[in-house]
Formats: sequence, C-alpha cells, structure tokens
Amino acid sequence: PDSTIAPTIKRLDEAVVNRIAAGEIIHRPANALKELIENSLDAGSTSIQVSIKDGGLKLLQIQDNGHGIRVGDLAIVCERFTTSKLRTFDDLSTMSTYGFRGEALASVSHIAHVTITTKTKDSNCAYKASYSDGAIIPSKPGGAAEPKPCAGNNGTQISAEDLFYNVPTRRKALKNATEEYNRILDVVNRYAIHNEGVSFTCRKVGSNTPDVHTTTSATVVDNIRHIYGSAVANELLSLEKSYPVYPLKIKGWISNANYSVKKFVMLLFINHRSVESPAIRKAIEAVYTTYLPKNTHPWVYLSLEMDPRNVDVNVHPTKREVHFMNEEEVIATICEAIQDRLGDANVSRNFLTQT
Ligand code: ADP
Ligand code: MG
Repeated sequence: PDSTIAPTIKRLDEAVVNRIAAGEIIHRPANALKELIENSLDAGSTSIQVSIKDGGLKLLQIQDNGHGIRVGDLAIVCERFTTSKLRTFDDLSTMSTYGFRGEALASVSHIAHVTITTKTKDSNCAYKASYSDGAIIPSKPGGAAEPKPCAGNNGTQISAEDLFYNVPTRRKALKNATEEYNRILDVVNRYAIHNEGVSFTCRKVGSNTPDVHTTTSATVVDNIRHIYGSAVANELLSLEKSYPVYPLKIKGWISNANYSVKKFVMLLFINHRSVESPAIRKAIEAVYTTYLPKNTHPWVYLSLEMDPRNVDVNVHPTKREVHFMNEEEVIATICEAIQDRLGDANVSRNFLTQT
C-alpha cells in the first residue's frame, strides 16, 4: 500500500465492536464464571452449582436458586448495558451489588452460545431462551425470537457453550483444560469461603463426585478446612476490627506463626468482590516475615468493607482492580491489625510453653 495516500475510515460492524469489548472483560473461562457467580449472589441465591466441560471451554454452566429473571426481561437481558442494578450515574457510587454495568451476560453471549433457563417464584413455569450476539435466537428458522415455556425450578440456569468459538486466537491460547479448570475451582473456592450460608458445588460433567461441595450450614472455618485442608484450618486466627474514621471494617481469618507454606495464599475481598491488590499483598507479606521461617508464607483471607463512595470500582471493565481512598493509611491499618493479632497469639503461646 502507498503510505502517502490517506486510507478511508470505515465504521466497524457492531458485532465486531461488541466482540472486542467482550474480549476485554472475559479473558478466560474463570472470568466468565466469576461474573456468573456474582450475578447468582446478587439474585439472593443460597445454592450455586457449577458444571464444567473441558475447563469451561466446551461448557460452563451455573444453576442457582435466586430470584430469577422476569420473562419480559429475557429479550434484552443479553444486550449490552441492560441491568436491573444501576439506574443513574450517581448510583455507581452507592452500588452494593456486584454487577452494575450490564455487560457480563452481553459479553458472554458475544463469544459463546448462551442458554438461559429461569423461573421467578410467581411464574407457573420456567422460560428458556438461547442467545447469540446479545439477542434471542428463534427456535426455528424464521420463527419468533422469544422465550419458550418449559419445566424448571425457581432460579436461573445459565449455560455458555464453546467459549471463544468465534475468537480463534484466544481459543488457541487456551489449550490447557486442566489449567483452566484449576482457575475455575479457585474462583469457586474463594466465593465459597466468603459466602457462609450459601452452598457451592463445582464438578466436571460426567463425574459423580464434585470437586468442591460446601453446605449452607457450614461455618467459614468449616469451609476453609474442606477446601484448603486441616493443616491451615487448625492454625487460624480470627480478625475483626472496625475503624469508623475511614470508615473501614476488616474481617477475616489469617494463619498464625505455626503455619507456613511455599506459596502465599491470599483471598481478598473488597465490598464482597474478589479482587487482587499487589500493594496489600506485599504489605502483609512484610508483616509475616518476622514470624515465619525464611522463604515461607502465610495463608490469609481478608474481607474489607468500605463506604462504596470511597471505592472506585470503575477503573477497569473486569472490576478486578479496585482503588480506594486513603489507600496508604488503610493498608497501614490492615497491617497493624494483623501485627497485633500475630503478636497477641505469639505472646500467649510463649506464656503457655513457659508454664
Ligand atoms: P449486571 O450484573 O451488571 O447488571 P449482567 O450482564 O451481569 O449485568 O446481568 C444483566 C441482568 O441480568 C442483571 O442486572 C440481572 O437483572 C439479570 N441476571 C443475570 N444473572 C442473573 C441470575 N443468575 N439471577 C437473576 N437475575 C440475573
Ligand atoms: Mg453481573
């Protein structure tokens, strides 16, 4: 091409634009599942069952017992920017639900074959609809694109099949189903521990025994024991502190000085959303260095609650990166709380061994 001639500018197809946007939100099956789990929790579910084929690349399915979706909403539920959670821009700052931008289901429907079966408690039957690129697919060619009545329990089942079927480069990059399944399990494990009172299961299709199974009556420590094992569950210190000045509430379970592992396990939730924070991670590691043998690490589950107005959840479409006000002071406060707890525990242990 002659680079001295200005090329013409063309508008991208809407489907292409949406597929690009979807790829920014969903990089791999575990990202899609996280969105679906958060939707189920937003819907007030107490039972969330996940079924997986080929690391979620062939099938990612989630069944919940939440409030369901009204049949009249099924036509637009997979369109971009349709949500029951956010109404005005100002609502963004006070959102307590996980979702808020109405992009998750739309994204999945642009890169997978999505089927939703849902029943609200005041409906006589369930309704089922399959989606492609945000819209319901007619059940027969030329037929009406509308949900079909069917049998079903209260709640919602969402299936995403053939993830990235239309994004060949992404599909090629995700060859290892075992690795993808492990990431999926990690997401389920984290949410299972953070949501006492909600039963989670995760299984591979065709397997009789689930790989995770928590019950509604299990405590947080029961769930930690079930998922991460007794070695850590037996060595936990509880943490619970409130700081009205920020305001900030810290809750969690952290391993004591008797426990150490090769790899730092950190489950971090900010306002009930599973997030990563390299800054918090690094600071906590530093606190533990005086307590643990060299090159070993703690196990930490932390739930931070802050005024939603102080948390900027809108920095990134995946909502994984969260920034908040007074970040440095807040991190220092968290470290102090952990330091105090570890110190107390250590003192009482020495005292016990001395007497
Ligand atoms: P958001 O969660 O940001 O609102 P989503 O695309 O994730 O956007 O979901 C769109 C809408 O679909 C939600 O606002 C909610 O009303 C409905 N929805 C999605 N999943 C479920 C579910 N499991 N149970 C009930 N309603 C759901
Ligand atoms: Mg959502």
